Amino acid sequence: ILARGKDVCKRNGLLILSVLSVTVGCLLGFFLRTRRLSPQEISYFQFPGELLMRMLKMLILPLVVSSLMSGLASLDAKTSSRLGILTVAYYLWTTFVAVIVGIIMVSIIHPGGAAQKEMTEQSGKAIMSSADALLDLIRNMFPANLVEATFKQYRTKTTPVVKSLKMTSEEAPPRQILIYGVQEENGSRVQNFALDLTPPPEVVYKSEPDTIDGMNVLGIVIFSATMGIMLGRMGDSGTPLVSFCQCLNESVMKIVAVAVWYFPFGIVFLIAGKILEMDDPTAVRKKLGFYAVTVVCGLVVHGLFILPLLYFFITKKNPIVFIRGVLQALLIALATSSSSATLPITFKCLLENNHIDRRIARFVLPVGATINMDGTALYEAVAAIFIAQVNNYELDFGQIITISITATAASIGAAGIPQAGLVTMVIVLTSVGLPTDDITLIIAVDWALDRFRTMINVLGDALAAGIMAHICRKDFAQDTGAEKLPPCET
Ligand code: ASP
Repeated sequence: ILARGKDVCKRNGLLILSVLSVTVGCLLGFFLRTRRLSPQEISYFQFPGELLMRMLKMLILPLVVSSLMSGLASLDAKTSSRLGILTVAYYLWTTFVAVIVGIIMVSIIHPGGAAQKEMTEQSGKAIMSSADALLDLIRNMFPANLVEATFKQYRTKTTPVVKSLKMTSEEAPPRQILIYGVQEENGSRVQNFALDLTPPPEVVYKSEPDTIDGMNVLGIVIFSATMGIMLGRMGDSGTPLVSFCQCLNESVMKIVAVAVWYFPFGIVFLIAGKILEMDDPTAVRKKLGFYAVTVVCGLVVHGLFILPLLYFFITKKNPIVFIRGVLQALLIALATSSSSATLPITFKCLLENNHIDRRIARFVLPVGATINMDGTALYEAVAAIFIAQVNNYELDFGQIITISITATAASIGAAGIPQAGLVTMVIVLTSVGLPTDDITLIIAVDWALDRFRTMINVLGDALAAGIMAHICRKDFAQDTGAEKLPPCET
């Protein structure tokens, strides 16, 4: 038994350490809250966690570019288009299913029922209109400047501008005209009445280009995937660049293999630091609690029942074994709230534990981390209907359909970074005429829900890779494209 235990610990050492870190991080965070640390002490305390985030973010760019370019270049045109179409169709379909699960949950639990407007104590202004957000999604697909795309995303800011009258002092009309006279009104005499001619200020909404910090992963994915497909078609003349990308990919994975040993340590400080920063939990109202429970129930149903069942029916393999293989990635998603930052670990888990063909992982994972966000879509639908309930606003069937479509689109537009879903929710709210300012109602619990939905986003990508590996197994058995180049062994 001792020898077996030792063997289990050896094989799952990193996973056990990560589970321990999450627990220690929570306990430490709640303990230190009682010590009332100053903001500066909290920021020093968060430093090891910040380092973990920085390491993961550092790996995203070389990993996404090298995996998509080398992955797609090694497939023949027929295989890559089949894999591409199947993957995107699967992603859209499962995201839509997640939205339906969210809508059913929020309709059954009805968390906004009695809350009504009692919670509108916070204020804030949404600064993006729905049309702008959709156009920005498309703009971000085609970055004008690739270098800028590695650290900034395009976003249109809609700001209210008060239009002033541009007139010189001579031209300016008098503000008031005093009319001297006597007027008879209801029997009384009124003298010297004035007519105010000051035009009312005209408020116009102006869209301005803006950029926000954070990599434009969508633009980089589109560019790298196109490059990969073209390199594959170039034959031998493309070989040097493909070999370079393969080597880059392998070396990034070697860095990941070393960096993962730092992660359990970083997780402790990342989680504890967040707990130290959060608002007083008792301030979160009961109704917001019901809302959070609704989102979590929806995520559990989708992530632990629907997606694994789908995996089982398609592959006839045990989903529990598969999910156990990616547990490490799910814990990193919980700690970082970012599916893009988790990407290197998702790769590692799928290749080493679940033995997914690396050519499939190289395509399915980066695309999934960018456009497949089941957890985010589910949450956006729940949040929009919750806001409607709080406002006592009856949604008709057409509006529910609109919410399902826009929540799917908004999740595609959300970047794989913390709380990106909160921003793209403007699309969903404005599509059915709900007040976008009410996003502020749910901010208090969003940081926590973000962690859970990111776990489901990552799980969705991983299971998709497993399903695609099964569906396309014949294509990949025949496709010898990958052997065209010698593997870059380090
Ligand atoms: N944090 C999520 C992710 O990275 C996106 C979101 O829903 O805010 O997948």
